[in-house]
Amino acid sequence: MHEMTLVQSLLDMAEEELVRRDCKRLLLARVEYGALVGVMPEALHCCFEILTRGTVHENARLELVRLPLRLRCPFCGVSFGEEVQDVLNIPCPVCGEFFGHIVEQGKEMILSRLEAS
Ligand SMILES: [Zn+2]
Repeated sequence: MHEMTLVQSLLDMAEEELVRRDCKRLLLARVEYGALVGVMPEALHCCFEILTRGTVHENARLELVRLPLRLRCPFCGVSFGEEVQDVLNIPCPVCGEFFGHIVEQGKEMILSRLEAS
């Protein structure tokens, strides 16, 4: 399962960080993910709960922040997309070019904050 693997690697990353900072128990993990990553927030929460249950991290909180998709037009260089729902299907707002837009933000998955004790 895709989500299980993702959450496991996030927990591994968190664990490493905890060790580095001499902490034992994870309290909160904030994960920012791009709109194109294609994960289901409910599934991530569910996997997080399963993987932390019965461990020292039980009852830690997973906070998910969805990053809006941002594209850049390769022809005129403008960035756009933040406020648009169906950004993949719109032309460049400046030059009108439909194709070749580069994804500037949308495919990332970042562990942006950890709280631990
Ligand atoms: Zn353009």
